[in-house]
Amino acid sequence: MAESAEFLMPFYQNQSCDPFTAKEKPCELGNYAQYSIAVSSVEDVQAGIEFARENNIRLTIKNTGHDLLGKSTGKGSLSLWTHHLDSIEFIDKYKGSSCYKGPAVRLGAGVLTSNAVKEASQRGYRVVTGTCPDVGVAGGYTPGGGHGVFTSLYGMAADNVLEWEVVTAEGKHLVATPTKNADLYWALSGGGAGTFAVVVSMTTRLHPDGAMVGASLGFDAELAGSTEKFWEALATFQSALGPVVDAGAVASYAITPYAVSAYGIAIPDTNASEIEKIFAPVTSAMAEIGIDLNITTTMHSHYIDFFNMYFAKAVSTTPAAQVTGGRLLPRSILETPSGSKDIAQAFQKAVDGGFAIVCDAVNADQPRPHSNSVFPSWRSSLLHCIIVKTWDFSMPWDDYDSIPEESDRSRHARG
Ligand SMILES: Cc1cc2nc3c(=O)[nH]c(=O)nc-3n(C[C@H](O)[C@H](O)[C@H](O)COP(=O)(O)OP(=O)(O)OC[C@H]3O[C@@H](n4cnc5c(N)ncnc54)[C@H](O)[C@@H]3O)c2cc1C
Repeated sequence: MAESAEFLMPFYQNQSCDPFTAKEKPCELGNYAQYSIAVSSVEDVQAGIEFARENNIRLTIKNTGHDLLGKSTGKGSLSLWTHHLDSIEFIDKYKGSSCYKGPAVRLGAGVLTSNAVKEASQRGYRVVTGTCPDVGVAGGYTPGGGHGVFTSLYGMAADNVLEWEVVTAEGKHLVATPTKNADLYWALSGGGAGTFAVVVSMTTRLHPDGAMVGASLGFDAELAGSTEKFWEALATFQSALGPVVDAGAVASYAITPYAVSAYGIAIPDTNASEIEKIFAPVTSAMAEIGIDLNITTTMHSHYIDFFNMYFAKAVSTTPAAQVTGGRLLPRSILETPSGSKDIAQAFQKAVDGGFAIVCDAVNADQPRPHSNSVFPSWRSSLLHCIIVKTWDFSMPWDDYDSIPEESDRSRHARG
């Protein structure tokens, strides 16, 4: 969001200056930062940190405001707004302290996914980002690990980082690499954003662009024969996704009552004739329970064409105001019949409780040149799923406390 203090998640907005509340309710800053500095240089960041330290002021960092846990704001804080640190510099042959010697790109902390993808594509490369065009690549996404379309090929975004340029809490301007300030490099590469230092820029590997196949498929209770059979079909579907992600694909799908829509399956570096083979484990498992899956495919010579078709416009149709929780689901459990059934049953409860579930099937256990702090469970998980509900601004605030998944966070946000 190109506003200095604005952030996405209504839970953490805590009804501050909310047009949906009663007229008599005063318009106050609430959880919003008190002041923001639109930083555009290392010196600006250093000055902000020094001012906060000297005056004992809470310091927060905001880039785009997409943080799902509201961590890009803080009541009464001085905020460093990194949106304008938006430089992009291409390096033909990286020669830093990593063992990697190929093409790389230095992304300022404020660079958005859409710009990174576009600029890399114009030079014949892919860069590892997420799917939302408006998320900040180096700000929160990569320090949080970062999954996306290429996870099953290049690993997590953090696995690709060569250098972090940062300002520390003491105001020091440092570069952290696998061999220089190595502890900071390790911590920043997946250990969570906003904790270890202010990121000014990140240098990350580039990968040669190439063909992409996009695929979509779906099934619902009608096709399955009944609601009960639908959940059984979901268990079968999810338990068969392992070989698909092992072929380099990432499958994004949504579960709503009572339909599965795999709207954006990305299969890099392949062609349409391979698709049948890649999906054979899924289609044959589903055929065994009487469901013929119809897979629609699109061919793209460049990644950006796939991205524009499947994800760039998704933002305008996805409600921004949500309640969201998430889980990583181990492959070892999904690939046992009882485990996959248990997981489908848990999903059924969430869906019956009014949530939608959005999953990405991935294989994040890819070769990585350097050790990092990505949550280790990513490597053994087959699914990353978020449990989502569109925020209802007219619902009485206290009713949100009765939503089991969210009740702890509610107390935290309001505490
Ligand atoms: C619609 C949507 C789609 C998403 N899709 C994906 C996806 O496909 N894959 C995925 O892995 N994640 C995805 N995410 C999660 C997203 O990666 C995280 O919310 C991420 O933290 C956002 O980073 P940001 O910089 O854009 O946002 P912000 O909210 O501005 O920042 C997020 C966190 O990073 C800190 N931070 C920001 N900039 C800096 C900096 N320069 N230095 C230090 N700390 C900083 C903030 O303090 C905050 O804690 C999605 C989120 C949303 C809302």
